[in-house]
Amino acid sequence: MAMMRRKLVAGNWKMNGLVKDCAFPKALSEALNAEPRCDVLLCPPATLLSAMSATKPDWLKLGGQDCAAQTSGAHTGDVSAVMLADLGCTHVIVGHSERRSDHGETNETVKLKTAAALDAGLIPILCVGETLDERESGQAEDVVVRQLLASLPACDADRIVIAYEPVWAIGTGRTATPEDAQAMHAAIRSAWPGRDADVLRIVYGGSMNPANAEALLAQTDIDGGLVGGASLKPQNFARIIQSAR
Ligand code: PEP
Repeated sequence: MAMMRRKLVAGNWKMNGLVKDCAFPKALSEALNAEPRCDVLLCPPATLLSAMSATKPDWLKLGGQDCAAQTSGAHTGDVSAVMLADLGCTHVIVGHSERRSDHGETNETVKLKTAAALDAGLIPILCVGETLDERESGQAEDVVVRQLLASLPACDADRIVIAYEPVWAIGTGRTATPEDAQAMHAAIRSAWPGRDADVLRIVYGGSMNPANAEALLAQTDIDGGLVGGASLKPQNFARIIQSAR
């Protein structure tokens, strides 16, 4: 029998959101009208996690957008996975392409951060994805699988989520076709080093919106979405959540 994996729709607010936006979970509940059939996660900026954690509905999970590789100590400005867990977070995004490009994060750094998240009891959402040049030169699958294996510490498949985020599709309005995304997700599942690949959740990210979510989420190996821009408006995020069955 085919494995049923519960879908995960995660919102990544990036560096957007002020204290007034802590009203978002309430607006999202209203837009949804009923409890979602999938897991729903919100990753607002770290500054809002504490307030949101105190007021959010139970079905809404909270996550960080990044964590330090270290647990505590002299690392000015950094936030550790232990601190995120302490606030009630269940997940943390690691290795997002904006972290890799803005902060020079290498696969080695991402691997340490992923391990720190696991040690703190968080589920890391490990991001991988190819550039446009890499796709156009036919290297996309090789690049993504290499990136995954180099960023991944030893880990059971049910303790992590992989996000396939083609760099050329993030924040650009360009989306991978459902067929191309499915092919990459299948390649990631085949490359998973453990024997538990059938429980691994692999979500797609890159300009997912209410208009394209249903077709993407209908693919066999697409287990949810990591949503940037379209997670900022409750109505849009709600429509994507409702597309996940
Ligand atoms: C992201 O940042 O993870 C993302 C997928 O952004 P967007 O949906 O805006 O492309």
